[in-house]
Amino acid sequence: MMLERHARMRLAIELIARRARISIVHQETEIPRDALRALYREYHGVSAPSGQLPALGGAAITTRRMQLQASLFAATYFRCGGNRDIRGTPTPRARSIYAAIAAHDLCRELAGIDNSLDMTRSWTIARDLHIGTARLLGCRACEVLYLVADQSRFDRTCPVCALYRAYSDAPPATQPQDDNFFARSLLLPPEPEFRQWSGELTQAAAENGRRPTGSPGAQQKTLPR
Ligand SMILES: [Zn+2]
Repeated sequence: MMLERHARMRLAIELIARRARISIVHQETEIPRDALRALYREYHGVSAPSGQLPALGGAAITTRRMQLQASLFAATYFRCGGNRDIRGTPTPRARSIYAAIAAHDLCRELAGIDNSLDMTRSWTIARDLHIGTARLLGCRACEVLYLVADQSRFDRTCPVCALYRAYSDAPPATQPQDDNFFARSLLLPPEPEFRQWSGELTQAAAENGRRPTGSPGAQQKTLPR
């Protein structure tokens, strides 16, 4: 019994460290909510956020990128053994919370924090996969596995193909937008030789009264009058 209590508390700390909702931690460990709130406050130095869990994870997937993140989580979750029963867990059930934690951590490792689901969303997707309101389908075009969920705002099409279409249909960016700091940060300052070359071209064009059309080394010839 002592070992079981210890395992429950350890699981609670693992989930709280990943900022999972208190209702999830309570559901998984059966530790009273008040004790979990105190634990959360002690661990993070702030109160645990309150609020209801989404009834269905599909409703919480609001963008194609998020659907892609959920797909990566679902595939990783199964890879981590999420569809198997693991003996000796504090709350033995078909779904394994340990697989959800492992998949959550792995996704963060693979895709980065900004491109992966938080622990609460990860848990919701794992739950929905087990109750059957979310599932993985295979795309015939790009051959990736992707997640479809009930109450999702998207149809049953592949998020990778949808994002690719949106990317290829977008008008080409001729100049970085002023407010697009990231795009500007990718531009390197012009090399000195390039600056010299483009300056010479501009000068030659001004002398010839027309725009430069030649190659870098080409000299503009003055037309006979
Ligand atoms: Zn696809």
